[in-house]
Amino acid sequence: MAETYYEATAKPLKKLSSLKGKKRTDVCVIGAGFTGLGAALALAERGYSVIVLEQNEVGSGASGRNGGQIHRGLRRDQMELEKRFGRSEAYLLWEIAQDSVKRLDKVLKKYKIDVERHDGHIFPDHRARYVADSHAYVDHLKNRYAYDLAEKLDREEVRALIKSDDYHGGWIDRGGGHLHPLKYARGLARAAVKNGAEIFEHTKALRIDNGKKAKVVTENGEVTADWVLVAGDALMHDLVPMADVRILPIASTIGVTKPLGKKMKKYLTSDMAVADSRFVVNYYKPMDDGRLFFGGGESYSNVHVDDPGSLVRKAMAQIFPDLKDVEFDYAWSGIVGITPTRFPLIRRLAPNVLMAAGYSGQGVSLAPFAGYIMAEAISGTFERFDCLARLPVPSFPGGTALRHPLMILAMLWYALRDRI
Ligand SMILES: Cc1cc2nc3c(=O)[nH]c(=O)nc-3n(C[C@H](O)[C@H](O)[C@H](O)COP(=O)(O)OP(=O)(O)OC[C@H]3O[C@@H](n4cnc5c(N)ncnc54)[C@H](O)[C@@H]3O)c2cc1C
Repeated sequence: MAETYYEATAKPLKKLSSLKGKKRTDVCVIGAGFTGLGAALALAERGYSVIVLEQNEVGSGASGRNGGQIHRGLRRDQMELEKRFGRSEAYLLWEIAQDSVKRLDKVLKKYKIDVERHDGHIFPDHRARYVADSHAYVDHLKNRYAYDLAEKLDREEVRALIKSDDYHGGWIDRGGGHLHPLKYARGLARAAVKNGAEIFEHTKALRIDNGKKAKVVTENGEVTADWVLVAGDALMHDLVPMADVRILPIASTIGVTKPLGKKMKKYLTSDMAVADSRFVVNYYKPMDDGRLFFGGGESYSNVHVDDPGSLVRKAMAQIFPDLKDVEFDYAWSGIVGITPTRFPLIRRLAPNVLMAAGYSGQGVSLAPFAGYIMAEAISGTFERFDCLARLPVPSFPGGTALRHPLMILAMLWYALRDRI
């Protein structure tokens, strides 16, 4: 049986070979998740020759195992971005986030990729004291960004959508939504290949040799390229030492129930996605076949979790107590790449080597678009790349050795605050 619900329900890709021997290309992309595939597609559409190297399989990283929730914005909200970087920079970042969703929908339509796309994202507050801030944020988006897809929810309005006593109010972003991420990743791969990109699976990039022509060395071959794009997120370990101390891999766990049929209405009455206000966020959604998908649970592991179902069940029981003993047909974990500031790590590592990673749990719309923005940069327009590259991402205190224990301490502190 497939490990993930997504694996069980997405049409497999045709078999892709691994790289053997030497190749020459315009652009070599390392990693076949949303970032790498978004870049490969955008580059191939522009006529570049592209080789993608994937150490495992297309979408086997975070991109094929996530919550599929489409966020319109970065992990930090616009008020914070304005305060930290000024209005015009915050506006540029807002535009990038909006364009990321536009590009997503354009690609789905153009290549007829069916990803079970649904509109609407509910953000319920688990503390009464958060509700005023949520409502102020809706006003802020409307007044400053002319964004009219956000709506305030009071306690009863949340209760009408989510049949739980856990929440006190919140808001909806009707411009957000959710999708089936593995169908999306494989759809991007098919579209990239259709446009001429080559993808090699089971081909790990071991080293990047910088130079006017960069060389990516693998176990059984090498690729010489004018440009290299690094898109390995939390799974690339020491390939890029600068990223290794700035991106912390953290496991997040997911469970998917049996089809609930009409019982679904006892829990969720709409087909919108939900992400609540907890620091260890609970994210959930109804699936098209009537199952309840639930992500959450505290795990500060940096590797996959042994019994993901029990962690998720505990988190789910807080929201829907009568599901405390529910069986999951599928339960799995995925590795999220977190940065200390929660800003993505987008950098020019060398004149012809770019990287994008570290979306800190919000990469479904942003990661493929960061790939697109790298393609745009290679074509000569660096404005949006530079805007993202200005986002501050310091290294974690303690470097690779101590960052995990220190991060766990910080996480435990914030998780404790969730409960008080
Ligand atoms: C459980 C979970 C839930 C999430 N939920 C959401 C959500 O609901 N909404 C949202 O917006 N975001 C969510 N995210 C985050 C989102 O999934 C990621 O931000 C996004 O998928 C990152 O895409 P990526 O392509 O950069 O990384 P990945 O998908 O991890 O892809 C990187 C790829 O690079 C490959 N690779 C690494 N090193 C090498 C190498 N040396 N050589 C060759 N290949 C290499 C890896 O094998 C991998 O396939 C979630 C993440 C997880 C794990």
